[in-house]
Amino acid sequence: MGKPVTIVVGSQIWVENPELVWIDGEVINIKGEDAEIQISNGNKVVAKVSKIYPKDMDMPAGGVDDMTKLSYLHEPGVLCNLATRYESNEIYTYTGNILIAINPFQSLSHLYDTVMMERYNGVPFGELGPHVFAIADAAYREMINEGKSNSILVSGESGAGKTETTKMLMRYLAYLGGNAAAEGRTVEQQVLESNPVLEAFGNAKTVKNNNSSRFGKFVEIQFDKRGRISGAAIRTYLLERSRVCQISDLERNYHCFYLLCAAPEQEKEKYKLGDPKSYHYLNQSNCYQLDGISDEHNYLSTRRAMDVVGISVVEQEAIFSVVAAILHLGNIDFANGEDNDSSVLKNDESLFHLQMTAELLMCNPRALEDALCKRVMVTPEEIIKRSLDPHGATVSRDGLAKTIYSRLFDWLVDKINVSIGQDPSSKCLIGVLDIYGFESFKTNSFEQFCINYTNEKLQQHFNKHVFKSEQEEYTREEIDWSYIEFVDNKDVLDLIEQKKGGIIALLDEACMFPKSTHDTFSQKLYQTFKDNKRFIKPKLTRSDFTIVHYAGEVQYQSDQFLDKNKDYIVPEHRDLLSASKCSFVAGLFPSLTEEAAKSSKFSSISSRFKQQLQHLMETLNATEPHYIRCIKPNNVLKPAIFENINVVQQLHSGGVLEAVRIKCAGYPTYRNFFEFLTRFRILAPEVLKMDFPENEACEKILEKMGLKDYQIGKTMVFLRAGQMAELDAKRTLM
Ligand code: ATP
Ligand code: MG
Repeated sequence: MGKPVTIVVGSQIWVENPELVWIDGEVINIKGEDAEIQISNGNKVVAKVSKIYPKDMDMPAGGVDDMTKLSYLHEPGVLCNLATRYESNEIYTYTGNILIAINPFQSLSHLYDTVMMERYNGVPFGELGPHVFAIADAAYREMINEGKSNSILVSGESGAGKTETTKMLMRYLAYLGGNAAAEGRTVEQQVLESNPVLEAFGNAKTVKNNNSSRFGKFVEIQFDKRGRISGAAIRTYLLERSRVCQISDLERNYHCFYLLCAAPEQEKEKYKLGDPKSYHYLNQSNCYQLDGISDEHNYLSTRRAMDVVGISVVEQEAIFSVVAAILHLGNIDFANGEDNDSSVLKNDESLFHLQMTAELLMCNPRALEDALCKRVMVTPEEIIKRSLDPHGATVSRDGLAKTIYSRLFDWLVDKINVSIGQDPSSKCLIGVLDIYGFESFKTNSFEQFCINYTNEKLQQHFNKHVFKSEQEEYTREEIDWSYIEFVDNKDVLDLIEQKKGGIIALLDEACMFPKSTHDTFSQKLYQTFKDNKRFIKPKLTRSDFTIVHYAGEVQYQSDQFLDKNKDYIVPEHRDLLSASKCSFVAGLFPSLTEEAAKSSKFSSISSRFKQQLQHLMETLNATEPHYIRCIKPNNVLKPAIFENINVVQQLHSGGVLEAVRIKCAGYPTYRNFFEFLTRFRILAPEVLKMDFPENEACEKILEKMGLKDYQIGKTMVFLRAGQMAELDAKRTLM
């Protein structure tokens, strides 16, 4: 028997198209392997039969709310369904138990009001339309009923809607697990108000998103025996440090800087702050204001949120002093000193900013100047002070700004955690993960490497889960099923994280060896991985390297990997600030002995991050996961524009199409007996005339059509990929 016929003359199909990715049409002729197609835009094209896919002519006009209801589970079908739904503002669609959420780029407040929360409360999953509340509700019920921790993993590219989705989930969980009768600040209020505080300090406008989170976040909400929220813990990952002193045009620095510049006059006076345009750390970009957003208003609401999460007024003042100090610090410029190898303050203005920085950080201005312009060298013979040239001093200044800011951010997270409090007796939790999605730009550096490493980890977790839930479905229906293939991304993960000789290990090694450069590092990579299928040495570059990620190839520029990986604070900077008279500032810089006791070894950003990820995966592995894939339908951030190319690429990198592939390896299409008989009775009218039970009638039709390898479950017919199309093609021919 040859290949089953699924495409015949007259078939309505999907064919590849350069602009739209897929376009629909009708087969008008078939010659051997080639099909001639009349496509819906009026043109005729010829394509290989193996490259065209049947179109589902029975799809309801508004699409289906779950991809598993599609007759044919394939890329064009998935895409067409999402586009159709998006047109009528149906932004949520399931693929089994995965929720796909397409950013509407407009306020759909009716979707999230109290009426909606009440509607979803306690309703079994799948009974109502797809929604974030349904996912949160399922997680909550599972936790209550089975005493098991759950997690909700939200992913997607920048601007896709992860953070908004996360906030919606947290609001719904606070609604379910809140204590309406409680007075004063409740735990759930604190949990919710931690969002604006972290956003003020960790979010910024980028070209992709006006409120882009520049850190990853895992919020663990703890529940007591009665299902009430009793504590929470927030973990954050990899805050983007470089943004503090370097921004590109059209972007902004972290929101808090602009908020403070928009504070009431008397407060600005206290910090001697002027217009944001006057600060080097802000005026590298021409963007200061955000459409429709008032920094003035947000300053006050951030202060209120800080009150709620338990940051005292004294602490708030110290925090904003540090924020102001960073702005002043950035305005300290240097000129050549007596010789070209040393530097002095450039002018009186720099002197003013130096004094302001010192005043706000409560440290000695001379010591600050020294810490910026000089380095202490310890040789076996003596200790000498070496001067830095103006460039060196500027690098030192920016390094100090980044260090202070990242410690401030970590302090905020710790403080929020302490203040909300952990519930040690809590056995169940729901974790919500809002973490950057896969990134591939023109130039990719260490940050993208870490981000994509994270996504490989999460992808592995996701694949395992999809397999497991497929298996469970088959077990429920009591059908036999053994797995055909399981393409894992373990090989990429080994390449990156293997203890011996993975990229991270080699990077750390290079960082510890003083003579290493990015060149020697890259050479080492080329040599070590020359036979690795997941590693490519790109042509025409001397130090780039390419990793073949599950979501595609990414070429990394290695030149800043070594610097960015070093988790190092200049001892002069530490000494300066740990001696601050402000206990808040000094507290950000514990003296060396304490810290050294904690980790005496060399520490690198990537190794620490690897450990954090390990820890995260352990937590996630102990939970029942739920997945939400956010999708950004266009790059202009406007409603009602659905760009196929963009969406398909995200369906790939978010693993949705991988999930589809996994489903297709089993029995991607299933229909209950009644639906099946209604659709295919025409193929065997005689069978329907006899009085067979439904399952037997289905089987008779399948037998008559010569199909093999399908399964009849307890309530459904399970078909292999392509079998539905084969039956449909036969219908067309009748
Ligand atoms: P990043 O990775 O940059 O942090 P993100 O995935 O967290 O991006 P969000 O900040 O959540 O993206 O969303 C970007 C913007 O899209 C929001 O500021 C909001 O304007 C809009 N948006 C996202 N989701 C929704 C929604 N469900 N309803 C209305 N608007 C939304
Ligand atoms: Mg975000």
